[in-house]
Amino acid sequence: MNGTLIVAEHLRGALRDITGELVTAAQHLSQPVAVAVIARDASRFDANFQGVDEIVNVPVEQDEFESDVYQGAVEALIAEREPQAVLLGFTVNSMGYGPAVAVKLGLGFASDVHGLARESESLRATRSFYGGKVDAELEFPAERPVLLLIRPTAFALAATGGSASKTDFSVELPASRARHLEFEEAAVGDVDITTAEFLLSIGRGIGGEEAIPQFEQLADKLGAVLSVSRPLVDAGWMPNARQIGQSGKTVKPKVYLALGISGAVQHLAGMKTSGTIIAVNTDPEAAIFNVAHFGAVADLFDVAEELDKLS
Ligand SMILES: Cc1cc2nc3c(=O)[nH]c(=O)nc-3n(C[C@H](O)[C@H](O)[C@H](O)COP(=O)(O)OP(=O)(O)OC[C@H]3O[C@@H](n4cnc5c(N)ncnc54)[C@H](O)[C@@H]3O)c2cc1C
Repeated sequence: MNGTLIVAEHLRGALRDITGELVTAAQHLSQPVAVAVIARDASRFDANFQGVDEIVNVPVEQDEFESDVYQGAVEALIAEREPQAVLLGFTVNSMGYGPAVAVKLGLGFASDVHGLARESESLRATRSFYGGKVDAELEFPAERPVLLLIRPTAFALAATGGSASKTDFSVELPASRARHLEFEEAAVGDVDITTAEFLLSIGRGIGGEEAIPQFEQLADKLGAVLSVSRPLVDAGWMPNARQIGQSGKTVKPKVYLALGISGAVQHLAGMKTSGTIIAVNTDPEAAIFNVAHFGAVADLFDVAEELDKLS
């Protein structure tokens, strides 16, 4: 067993940032580091980050991600190369096939990993539980290979301009059971929250749909744009275009005011790099306070009332 194998992610012809983040994460792990690029024309992606020793181009029929294709290709790569560690992004793509590969090949496994440390006898991976309220350290014995799903943005993006060698790896794959047909553009909606400088963001703490007009009016008064956490979209109270987070929009406003949002990792993934984060929550242990610059343990309706008086 040797080295670390990274599986690159790309979308619509561009490498996703998570690939470079996995390269940084891999510096904590067994060397050398190989990046597998699975695509019809894998050579057009530049995965030559500093810290990568080898780029393995895996030509397949499809250009875009298909779960079966990735699973088959990654299994074949692992069988041939026997890496000590396999790193995938904790992303919608990898969450589907990554655990299946680990189970099938008997690899140690952890998802949502945001910290890594290699010790002489073991590998330590830190991951979150309970919406980011608890971190757990998992220890894997050094002699057992592992497959880890790494949280996006947890590691810095590696610099480009590396000196990796390039190899090709061909694999015979059965026909994919689910084909990627096309991308359908999501409606931009009435407003583009990604360009707003001040977001007033509301979560499940508002209680019910009947409260939404109050916050629409408050946002107007404050000169803010209203955004929401996912449960409000799932409930059909607000359009998808207003959702912040991993499965919504990533934003970086100057001010992010979060009312009644717990701060689940999937939400934080979309807003934690905002300029100034202000959180209001009745729960002093809410994870949103871990990223907030200013926080109030208070009832959001009391705060809304005071803000309404000011504006
Ligand atoms: C694959 C996947 C993708 C996901 N993608 C996203 C995503 O893109 N965006 C997203 O937001 N979530 C996403 N989620 C869901 C996420 O895990 C959380 O469930 C969600 O963010 C919780 O939303 P919330 O904070 O509004 O609700 P809750 O977690 O229910 O939190 C409500 C908060 O309001 C507080 N509260 C209650 N009443 C009051 C009051 N009167 N005053 C002040 N505070 C109050 C509570 O203390 C609590 O902290 C995703 C989940 C999965 C599995």
